[in-house]
Amino acid sequence: AVQGPTRRRSVREAKEVSRSFSLPLLSEAWKMQYLFDENGRRYLDAFAGIVTVSCGHCHPEVLNAIMEQSKVLQHATTIYLHHAIADFAEALASKMPGNLKVVYFVNSGSEANELAMMMARLYTGNLDMISLRNAYHGGSSATIGLTALNTWKYPIPQGEIHHVVNPDPYRGIFGTDANLYAKDVQDHIDFGTSGKVAGFIAETIQGVGGAVELAPGYLKLVYDIVHKAGGVCIADEVQTGFGRTGSHYWGFETQGVIPDIVTMAKGIGNGLPLGAVVTTPEIASVLAQKILFNTFGGNPVCSAGGLAVLRVIDQEKRQAHCSDIGSHLLERLRALQQRHEIIGDVRGRGLMVGVELVTDRNEKTPAKAETAVLFEKLRELGVLVGKGGLHGNVFRIKPPMCFTRDDADFLVDALDYAISKL
Ligand code: PMP
Repeated sequence: AVQGPTRRRSVREAKEVSRSFSLPLLSEAWKMQYLFDENGRRYLDAFAGIVTVSCGHCHPEVLNAIMEQSKVLQHATTIYLHHAIADFAEALASKMPGNLKVVYFVNSGSEANELAMMMARLYTGNLDMISLRNAYHGGSSATIGLTALNTWKYPIPQGEIHHVVNPDPYRGIFGTDANLYAKDVQDHIDFGTSGKVAGFIAETIQGVGGAVELAPGYLKLVYDIVHKAGGVCIADEVQTGFGRTGSHYWGFETQGVIPDIVTMAKGIGNGLPLGAVVTTPEIASVLAQKILFNTFGGNPVCSAGGLAVLRVIDQEKRQAHCSDIGSHLLERLRALQQRHEIIGDVRGRGLMVGVELVTDRNEKTPAKAETAVLFEKLRELGVLVGKGGLHGNVFRIKPPMCFTRDDADFLVDALDYAISKL
């Protein structure tokens, strides 16, 4: 077990001193795709922290990069340039298509989306933003307005934000017809705004919303509509980026579009607090005359870690691995769906997978209570997954990208067993 300077606490004691975590599981150590609790018991982390750990917990190469950087320059503030930030920005920009070449660093996904929204408004001179229902773009006071999940019951400063129907092929009111969903965007612009918008933001696979992939062709149609209304298009790649979808490095590529602004966080730093916004020189120029200050954004240690993440994904061929293991996982889950009525839908790409549970397949009645029971049961069996979706009835399987075929089998067998005991 890991020895630290702190005294050993019970789960209850630890919960009392920190209210910001929710599972009754006191983790002692994490290694690649595994977590060890205070009794040394091993769990398979099929949720990568919260989709944060791209390469693996304490991945040796990322760890080494962080430690080496800490020895020479641990903090520089945004005022002073340093090689770690420049090296990382250059490497990140080299991964982007088109003219997406200017990089800003922040500390989280919410901050990245705040900055993207501010850029869109400054650049276009318009105020109205459009986001999808069932979206998650942040928990800060501005981005919570873009977030549109009914479980997020905070007083929301909606401002000029319009939530359009999300093109959900499983539950969506227009089925898989991208044209009808795109028309909803046009209607919002025509009837809810002056005709001019600042920006449109979407995840290509809605993460917290339950691994909902957007209907094929949707983003192409909507990007066109938004550009005609004077707006810019933002891709939130906080969960879908860095090869996790297997087929592509960035989620937006699955829809054949190039955004004007891309936001990233989570997997970018393998768990370090890091976020980024990448845009074109033209859009970035609106910030040139302004003071943009972020004390920790792009700090040397996170930058070195982020650079190592990019290297590991390439060297270990993680994108292809996500594609391979993801196909196997999806195939096995679909076979499970044949045997268990409760599995209403299995969907996703690469290692970004959703399993939606229903009590009635025709009505698609959300099996919310059963999902909660199975979630606990899976934990007892040593498997950690995420839970989400508008109705809390979707298992989210998004493990670190080092997840193996054996891990996938272990997870599916555990789920099979848990469902059979319901
Ligand atoms: N965008 C997406 C798609 C997310 O999933 C999240 C976090 N769940 C965020 C933005 C916000 O990121 P953070 O929690 O780092 O602020």
